[in-house]
Amino acid sequence: MKTGKIITIECKCGRKLFRYFKAGKGRIIKCFIDRMADDYVGVQNAETFSKPICPQCGKDLGIIMMIRGNPALKLNQGTIKKVRV
Ligand SMILES: [Zn+2]
Repeated sequence: MKTGKIITIECKCGRKLFRYFKAGKGRIIKCFIDRMADDYVGVQNAETFSKPICPQCGKDLGIIMMIRGNPALKLNQGTIKKVRV
């Protein structure tokens, strides 16, 4: 059985970025694109190695990478609001 929950990832400026299915506990380092539920800023359409930015404050959200063959957003920890799971 898979455990986890849907959390909302936000920029430090307060802009909602996307919702994400987080499996297990712990800090979020990266977000797999196919586990995002609602994409408010177009991250799911971003190309590999591009750096999506927050539409509100213009900061880097991270970088799109391939992780074990799946595209994922490696979060910029300085920009993303900390989430406790
Ligand atoms: Zn922002």
